[in-house]
Amino acid sequence: MTTVERVLIIGSGPAGLTAAIYTARADLEPLLVEGMERGGQLMLTTDVENYPGFPDGIMGPELMDNMRKQAERFGTRIRSSDVTRVDFAEYPFRIWVGDDLYHAESVIVSTGASARWLGVPGEERLRGRGVSACATCDGFFFRDKELVVVGGGDSAMEEALFLTKFASRVTVVHRRDTFRASKIMAHRVLEHPKIDVIWNTVVEEVLGDDGVTGVRLRNVVDGEERVFPTDGLFVAIGHTPNTKIFEGQLDLDEAGYIVVSEGTRTSVDGVFAAGDVVDHVYRQAVTAAGMGCQAAIDAERWLEAQRA
Ligand code: NAP
Repeated sequence: MTTVERVLIIGSGPAGLTAAIYTARADLEPLLVEGMERGGQLMLTTDVENYPGFPDGIMGPELMDNMRKQAERFGTRIRSSDVTRVDFAEYPFRIWVGDDLYHAESVIVSTGASARWLGVPGEERLRGRGVSACATCDGFFFRDKELVVVGGGDSAMEEALFLTKFASRVTVVHRRDTFRASKIMAHRVLEHPKIDVIWNTVVEEVLGDDGVTGVRLRNVVDGEERVFPTDGLFVAIGHTPNTKIFEGQLDLDEAGYIVVSEGTRTSVDGVFAAGDVVDHVYRQAVTAAGMGCQAAIDAERWLEAQRA
């Protein structure tokens, strides 16, 4: 006989784990598939100083570990593998975890998004030690420092402007000679007394042993290379939502994010989505957790309505 889960949650960042805590406390005995990269983007950060309730800050991995324990305490079952395929056209929904097939009455998708990286030497080695993809998370650690931001979209503008609160100087490095960002954001950057822009230039390498000391730049027009000293590098070249397995199953927007309406409802009745896989605007742990809570409540009410 096939067991049908009442709620199956895919993803184990703040959205998924909060959904698990809420659905577990609603006696729905959720099954959470945490994936091979458990805990999501917070596992890649160090100090989290803006998550409410931790006046002295908390390490990202510790925060996620706490959320996981809290979810397990109320009976969440956790599977540590990746979901490889879903079929939301049939009901109960079908979800493959490795070679195992699961059936579920409702699904909460919280697979998050991944920051895009440049993929240049030094970048990965110095991540968390001067290389970051989140100014809101790490900007605070760069008081009176000189910083480089890479990118020409709204995210890069936003990161550069935010970093001027701390840094003594911010240099935006962009690979073309015009920004992709909205006019108003670009204007703010170009007019800002603390921001310089280096056009037509790419970062070829991040330099430093224990922390960032500089970047090697290459002008894409004349090919000229030079070392540019800096204390930190913020990569803001966009995020990719983790929605590959939902293509053709759920409505996605043109950037690949899951489209939701009326809270956390997706285009398939009974499938809900929360966190960075939906949200490309706020992208904070606390907003993802909040959406995870919403998805749990939406799923619970939806399941209730099916039984009525
Ligand atoms: P985006 O608009 O896709 O911009 C990415 C930028 O990074 C582009 O300028 C791109 O250069 C550059 N880039 C991409 N790959 C690169 C590489 N390998 N090396 C160097 N540069 C690279 O992404 P986003 O800025 O994250 O914005 C995503 C969406 O969210 C947009 O729709 C944006 O409007 C929205 N958003 C809005 C706000 C706001 O309104 N406050 C804030 C953030 C984001 P090219 O220009 O040459 O392609």
